[in-house]
Formats: sequence, structure tokens, C-alpha cells
Amino acid sequence: MKKFKIISSVLLVASILFFILSCKTTIDVSTYTTPKFSKKSYPINQEVTFSLSIIETGFAKTPEAFVYRGGNLFKTRKLSHVSVLIQHPKGTFAFDTGLGSEIKEQFHDNFSFIDRQLFKFTKLKSMKEMLVTNKFNPDSIDFIIPSHLHFDHASGIKDFPNATVWTTREEYNHAISKGATPPAFIKEQYNADFIKWKFLDFSTTEYEIFKESYDVFNDGTVVLVKLPGHTKGSLGMFVNLKSGKRYFFTGDLTWAVEAFNGPSEKHAIPRRKVDGDRENIKKTIVMIHHLIKEKPNLKVIPAHDFNAQKNIAHFPNVEW
Ligand SMILES: [Zn+2]
Repeated sequence: MKKFKIISSVLLVASILFFILSCKTTIDVSTYTTPKFSKKSYPINQEVTFSLSIIETGFAKTPEAFVYRGGNLFKTRKLSHVSVLIQHPKGTFAFDTGLGSEIKEQFHDNFSFIDRQLFKFTKLKSMKEMLVTNKFNPDSIDFIIPSHLHFDHASGIKDFPNATVWTTREEYNHAISKGATPPAFIKEQYNADFIKWKFLDFSTTEYEIFKESYDVFNDGTVVLVKLPGHTKGSLGMFVNLKSGKRYFFTGDLTWAVEAFNGPSEKHAIPRRKVDGDRENIKKTIVMIHHLIKEKPNLKVIPAHDFNAQKNIAHFPNVEW
């Protein structure tokens, strides 16, 4: 009995030490080159009126220390699962789907007991349910652009059989490969024959600090960039509203905007479960760290950062 007590005390102290140490590290910015800002960028057609709104499909609550290194262990953060709805004269689309109508079954059937505790969530209405409730025809969604194909972003793809799914070849090939497994990927969310895919060819037009970009409507209002690291083909989205507001949706590169300020990574425990290429992630986080310093009016919005999203119009409200 005494021996057991000693072993458990040692284990407890070791895990507390591990936790404290893994909370503190930030990325050393000086070891990365400062990105060059492009002088060229797409002209923004300020005549085009289009709208943006957030659809929150679920959320989780977790100690901030698990969200990013340097986060407070005793502060709880709300992490949201959202879709970003863009209604533009040339098309209506969703950036990410959040948690879809079948998420409970998808989660239960594919996740281990431990992963179900680690990634548990409270489900709200799915994007499709929210649209229907507000008399918005789900068939009017022309396309979906997942920031990446992880379970909490691709879950609702099958809710929109008429929509084309836009992604990169790298992301798709990775997502259907043997290495793509839960708790990151759930293949049944995107392996149906009826899904129409469009693989994006990025142009070499520079945009802000990025070497390649994809102008969604050819008018500079919505521009995609590659954010490799979390997954092979992760995408970010710049939205330039007519009002002059500018957003940059950064997917799961970080889970909180503070991680770009630090800059710092996710906590080691969830990071090992979900992040693909750690070195690429750090490099891209440092680039965005510089971007935020240079463009303080640009609102950087990580996919799960409820605090960063709460002041953006939530569907059925929209902002222009
Ligand atoms: Zn995610």
C-alpha cells in the first residue's frame, strides 16, 4: 500500500512538472526569416456588395493552457465549431461546415473512449438545420471550402449533396490516404461517390505575405491562401468587405489568436493528436505573427476561437 502511494505521488509530481513545462514554451521568432510583404495584390472591387456571417454548430470548454502554450491553466476557454457563410452575387458558399447533422454517430463510431473525452463537444443546430430554420434553402449553397478535412470541419459535407467541395490535391490525397485516421480524420464524412470535388490551382499571384493565392470570385473580395502544417493542404481565407472591414480566417493553425501574438503552438497533448507537420506550423504561425504586427486592422480569426468570433454577425444576421 505504502509503495503504491509513493509511486502514485511520483507520477503525480512528474505529470504536473510535464504540464507546467509544456505550457510555457513560445516560438523563438528570431530563428525564422521575416516575411516580405507583397506590393502587388488583387484590386478589390468595392462596388460588389456581399455578406458574411458565422454559423455556430457546437462548442467545447477547456482549460486555456490546452488551447495554446502560455495559456492560463485555471481559465476556461470556449472553443466553437463554426461555418462561415459568404453570400456574394457570383455564388454562395461556406468556409468549413462545423459539426454536421450526423456528427453524433460519426463521433461515436470512430473515436476511442479516451478521444471522446478529449474532443467532447456540445452540439447546437448543424449548419443545414440553421439554414432550414431560417427559411434559407440549403440547396442554394453552391460550394463548400473546408479549411481542411478534419472531422470538425468536414462533418457537414454530406448535408449539402448539391454543393461542390473545393480543396487542394494535397489535402484530398492526404485525407484519403492510410495515414488519415481518427481522431483527426473521419473518412466516411467525405468518401461518397456523389460528392463533386474541385481541386484548386493556385496562381503565383502574391498576396500579403503569401507567395500563392486563389481569388475566389476574380474580384479580390475573397482570397484563399495555403497554410500548410496542421494538414498538408490547409487553407486560409481573406475576406475584404465593402465596409472596409478585413478578416483573415486561419483554420486550425492555432486555436486562439493569442497563439499568433505569443507566438506559440498548441499544448503538447492535443498537438500530438491533431497537428501534422510541426516545423511548417511554427513557420506559418511566425509569418502570421508578423502580418498581425504590420496590419493591426486585419482581424485574424482562428476556426475555434469563440472570443475572436463573438463580435462577428451570427446567422441569420449578416455583415457587409
Ligand atoms: Zn478543428
